[in-house]
Amino acid sequence: MICDTARGRSVVRINQDDALVIVDPQNDFMPGGALAVPGGDEIFPILSPLIRSFPLVVASQDWHPANHISFKEQGGPWPPHCVQRTKGAEFHPDLDQSRLSIIVRKGFDARHEQYSCFDETSKLSGMLKGRGVSRIFVVGVATDYCVRYSVHGALEGGLGVFVLTDAVRGVDVKPGDSERALAEMKAAGAVLITSSELAFL
Ligand SMILES: [Zn+2]
Repeated sequence: MICDTARGRSVVRINQDDALVIVDPQNDFMPGGALAVPGGDEIFPILSPLIRSFPLVVASQDWHPANHISFKEQGGPWPPHCVQRTKGAEFHPDLDQSRLSIIVRKGFDARHEQYSCFDETSKLSGMLKGRGVSRIFVVGVATDYCVRYSVHGALEGGLGVFVLTDAVRGVDVKPGDSERALAEMKAAGAVLITSSELAFL
């Protein structure tokens, strides 16, 4: 981390080889959606300036067939959500899509849950490294599921990972799940910061 002593605060300078990764900014995960994350839409005003400033912007999209294994009627834990080609699976209207360079869809195999956008099927780590990316800055929903698993997947893929704690929101099925997930990400090597600690050249 680079310390900006002139201003008396520590900042992380964003370089040309950094990428912003927005996890699942979709209607079904926002208030009013099929699997709403409390306060999920509060991240969008924070994301807009970041989307305009990062050299590379990636978004993931939960993209399930109607009979996905994670749905309750198939024995899974969740109500049906983010079904392919439905309104619920679309990006939220408050998301600025103008600078999305890469969109990764996940969970499209009916038989497999896929919380991480960095697992072996997505090939996202390799794709980013091929573009010279060495660090990613993760935002989105849900802290305790897809953000958590994506962060671990990216670390395993050899990327430096920062989590912007003011721009993630969790489900908290059990109270404290999001806090525990963040502590676990930090222990695994992710750096927890807020968007106000970023500096753009
Ligand atoms: Zn899902």
